[in-house]
Parts: sequence; C-alpha cells; structure tokens
Amino acid sequence: MKEMFKINQFNLMASEMIALNRSLPDVRLEGCKNKLYPDNLPRTSVVIVFHNEAWTTLLRTVHSVIDRSPHTLLEEIVLVDDASERDFLKQQLERYVRKLEVPVRVVRMEQRSGLIRARLKGASISTGQVITFLDAHCECTTGWLEPLLARIKQDRKTVVCPIIDVISDDTFEYMAGSDMTYGGFNWKLNFRWYPVPQREMDRRKGDRTLPVRTPTMAGGLFSIDRDYFQEIGTYDAGMDIWGGENLEISFRIWQCGGTLEIVTCSHVGHVFRKATPYTFPGGTGQIINKNNRRLAEVWMDEFKNFFYIISPGVTKVDYGDITSRTALRQKLQCKPFSWYLENIYPDSQIPRHYYSLGEIRNVETNQCLDNMARKENEKVGIFNCHGMGGNQVFSYTANKEIRTDDLCLDVSKLNGPVMMLKCHHLKGNQLWEYDPLVSGRHNKKAFSQSDAEKLVHMFITWTVFSQTKTWDVTFPSNFICKAL
Ligand code: UDP
Ligand code: MN
Repeated sequence: MKEMFKINQFNLMASEMIALNRSLPDVRLEGCKNKLYPDNLPRTSVVIVFHNEAWTTLLRTVHSVIDRSPHTLLEEIVLVDDASERDFLKQQLERYVRKLEVPVRVVRMEQRSGLIRARLKGASISTGQVITFLDAHCECTTGWLEPLLARIKQDRKTVVCPIIDVISDDTFEYMAGSDMTYGGFNWKLNFRWYPVPQREMDRRKGDRTLPVRTPTMAGGLFSIDRDYFQEIGTYDAGMDIWGGENLEISFRIWQCGGTLEIVTCSHVGHVFRKATPYTFPGGTGQIINKNNRRLAEVWMDEFKNFFYIISPGVTKVDYGDITSRTALRQKLQCKPFSWYLENIYPDSQIPRHYYSLGEIRNVETNQCLDNMARKENEKVGIFNCHGMGGNQVFSYTANKEIRTDDLCLDVSKLNGPVMMLKCHHLKGNQLWEYDPLVSGRHNKKAFSQSDAEKLVHMFITWTVFSQTKTWDVTFPSNFICKAL
C-alpha cells in the first residue's frame, strides 16, 4: 500500500478495491433535494485533463459523470491526455470509453503542457454550450449538474463551482464539504478556504441553498458558458503546468464584470493530495512563481507588492510576455484590483487601505521585527535585518493592525510578549495607535514609518476598550517601518 501510494500520492490500493460506479451519500442540504429546475437547460461538455492519472480514479470520474447527469444535458466528455507516460492511458483507455453510453473523446497533447493549456485544448474541441471542467480524480453526486447549468442559464456571466467534497486520499471515504466556506488567498497567493462572512449570509437572507459569491475558485471544478469563456479571455496560455490560473481567472471574472459563485446545491468530490506526484519541468518553485507573477502583474496593480515582499527572490523569476493579457484587460475595461478588494473581498488578508508595507527596523541596532516564519502563537522575534522581506515584513493597515498575511501583532497578555496571532478584526489587543506627537522621542518604545515620502514616527501603544496604554515591554526603541 505504501509503495503504491507514491505513484499518485493517494492510496491507489484502496482506490483499486472500490467499484468504478460505487454509490455515494446524498450530502445535499434538505432544501436542495426538491428544488425544481427549468427543462431547457444548456447542455454541457465535461472536460477532464490528466497527466499520469490512475486508471481507477480517472474512470470513476467518468462513470460518476455518466451515471449522475441527465444525458439530455450532457453533450460529451472530453479527456485530454497531457502527455502521460502510462501505457494503460493510451489504446486501452480509448477502447474502454468507446463502449460507454455517452460520447467520450480522448485527445492528446503533443508534449507536456500543463493543465492550463490542456484545458484550453479540451475547451477548443468541445461543442456544448457550457464547458464544465473537472479534475481526473473526482466523483459527481446526485443532482450535481442541474443547479450549475440553471444558474448559468439565469445569467451567462456567472461562473459556477460546486461544493468540493473531500475524498480521503487515504481511505477514499467520501466526506461532505462545507457550504460555509468560500475561496480566498493569502499574501503568497496561495488559494485558501475561509469562512463565508456574515455579509454574504445576510445577502442571502440566511438561505444556505442559494449560491455563495466567492472571491476566488479552487480551480479544478467549475462550469462556464462557452461564449462567456471566450469573451473574458479563456485562460492565460503563458502559464505552465499548474498553479495561479485559478486566481487569475477569479480576478478576471470579477474585475471584468462577471460573477463567481459556489452553487451550494451541487456537490462533487475531489481527492485532495498532500503532495504532487508529477514533475514540474524547470522546477516547481520557478513555474508557480512565474504563473503567479503573470497574474500579479496583469491584475493586482500596486497590491502585487504584498506578494513580492513576502516571497523573497520572486521578482527575479522571468514571467515572459504579458502584453496580450494587459491588452485584454484594457479591451474589457476591467476594474482595478482595489475595486475587487473593496467590493468583492473586503475580508482579504491584503488590506485595501494601509499606511505602510515594509520592515520595522531599529535604526540604532539595525535589528528588525521578525514574525518567526509566521508561526501562530509565537513571540515576535528581533533579529538582524536581512532586507529580503519574507518574515521581516509587516503592514500597518487602516484598521490599525500590524499584520503579516493573516497574523497580527497581538498583546493579549498584560506585560507579556508581543505575539503573532490570527487577526481577529476586533481591534482590542490588536489595535496599534499611531501617535505623531511623540515623533523624535527616543527612550520610549516607538517606531516610525515611511508614509510615501516622509518618515513619521509612531508610538507603539495598546488600546483596549478605548483606554490607551503605552506599550513598553518587548520592543527596542526607535523602530523604523520603512517601505522596502
Ligand atoms: N494536470 C495536467 N498536467 C499537468 C499537471 C496537472 O493535466 O502538468 C492535471 C491533473 O492530472 C489533474 C488536474 O490537472 O487532473 C489538476 O491537477 P492536480 O489534481 O494535481 O491539482 P490539485 O487538485 O492538487 O490542485
Ligand atoms: Mn486535483
């Protein structure tokens, strides 16, 4: 079992012991089960790209689509082989799918291209009015398709994702995903799940069966109207192998006038892996950084600096030519990233308004505050400044937090150390007051910031329930917070 695990980074032995058409629990909310959808929904092509996928997971994906979709709504399934090196994925696969009761086409990339260009190929040869992308290790559950297509029929500029349930990489047990999480990202541009905020619950008047507007999509599973996919510029074909494309299309959809939603009545399972089984020709970091730089440069305006400052060395990675993507943004008259942060993702880790982004330096000792690899509950460190950003960058935000990513400087313990704790947005122990009057005083615990041009000094004070106390424990004096 352990040996086989390495092949695909999931329990292949377990997968092989499970039927290709196994039954699954119906994990939908009660209110979803009796919803009615129009008869004349648009038909979809299902596009599944794969590189060296296991036979059982790939075919279980295909069977679950065929078995749990009304065939009147299923135009075809398109399998795109991204230059796999397994014999069974060649002729044997073609012979197998020929017998299935829904048209299944297999197309091959001439060379390893990555999931982005493989999906583009699949989309280009498919014919359904809607394109539904799935990973090659998914399982669709009862009623998954109708609510996706119905939402697109209502509004062709809405791009929809199912709730992604978890298929255990260890046991292949099927576990319902939550309808209370949605997609976001952090300063490193890693996709993350976060709780659906209250404003979104309120907008839906508490009805959890209504779609959730999500700032980003996880990437692997979504449906989109074919013409709308073209209109908004499909994918960035300059991105390689894996990564970044999900945030890129998410930003693009929102900034260019579309809508991105999680349709909570649609559930599809996915095997989440802890490691990637395949190679990244050219280097994993290089490729992901390149893709992320492309999306940062085209879509994030000045907020790209949050990504650049926390990822030392990333600006050295070549991101190729982006002129066609910036031209696309121009042509579609897309809104700025600040609009997205304000209106779509106000709870983002990247603050829409901030005074400063940079290091916090003691000019006398040349030491810097260090977030200790952003480990939660860790005392903030003081080390020699390395000037590389990374663990030594903080942002002083308009909410008066001093934060790195999702962690904030926090003084919950009276006279205890300053720690990095999850930002809680409640001000209190995480509220740092700016006090220009103390400018220039030295024996007090102060740090200063460069606020565009001029340096101004800040006192580190701690405000709890409107009582302001000067913080005088952990910091050395004369910190400078300067933009790197
Ligand atoms: N994939 C591909 N070519 C690549 C990398 C990935 O066709 O170079 C396929 C992969 O087989 C899978 C999909 O793209 O069907 C998404 O990849 P993966 O599941 O590894 O991404 P994750 O779900 O871990 O984000
Ligand atoms: Mn996957």
